[in-house]
Amino acid sequence: MPPNAAPTVERPPILVVEDEPAIADTILYALRTEGFDPDWATTVGAARESLGRRSYALAVLDIGLPDGSGFDFCRELRARDGLPVIFLTARSEEIDRVVGLEIGADDYIVKPFSPRELTARVRAVLRRTQAPARPATELGRHDAPVPAGDPAPRTGSTRGPFLIDEDRCEVRYHTTRLDLTRREYRLLLALLAQPGRVFSREQLLTRAWDEPEASLDRTVDAHIKTLRAKLRAVDATTDPIRTHRGFGYSIELG
Ligand code: CA
Repeated sequence: MPPNAAPTVERPPILVVEDEPAIADTILYALRTEGFDPDWATTVGAARESLGRRSYALAVLDIGLPDGSGFDFCRELRARDGLPVIFLTARSEEIDRVVGLEIGADDYIVKPFSPRELTARVRAVLRRTQAPARPATELGRHDAPVPAGDPAPRTGSTRGPFLIDEDRCEVRYHTTRLDLTRREYRLLLALLAQPGRVFSREQLLTRAWDEPEASLDRTVDAHIKTLRAKLRAVDATTDPIRTHRGFGYSIELG
């Protein structure tokens, strides 16, 4: 947005914590262009000061910072007020920690990334976390354990375009009843239990299979594939299931 443009009513304030100026510049420019109001902090210390000055809608957080780790700072943010966090990751071992240890990030983005990708993720996380009537247990609680085979959606509950009827073991998508196999059904319920959360194949096996040890990773892939085809048959324009290459899957309702 040009500096002399009239201020718009709602420009969500975003805290960007990144110590590399070139990366930060790209992020700040992209966010401003897309109607956000970003502040830039280069260290954990500076980020804490910013948080003391104003409240933010979301933080974009680098992991390797000069005075600390983005992981520790994310935990601090979580303990404080549950501010949504998108991690900027550079290395695969960092992604492993984001996904595997379930630090509580709402999303992550791998460097190098396109500005468009970043702003799309920011928008999606804000939509998800600011959605009305969202159960408190879901807000920033991606670390909350989900009992195997007992996902949160209840009979008649809706998740975005999905309507779940556990009594009938059926799911409607845009009001169309999906003709699912038992495993596709349980897989879909597992994903819908925590929209936006990245599940590893192993986690999905535990939640959707009775005998996970007897199955192989690619079984999950195969069922995701057929599930996707069934969703596409109802709505060819969107694919709510997102693949996180090398890590697993999530479902996006935004
Ligand atoms: Ca860094």
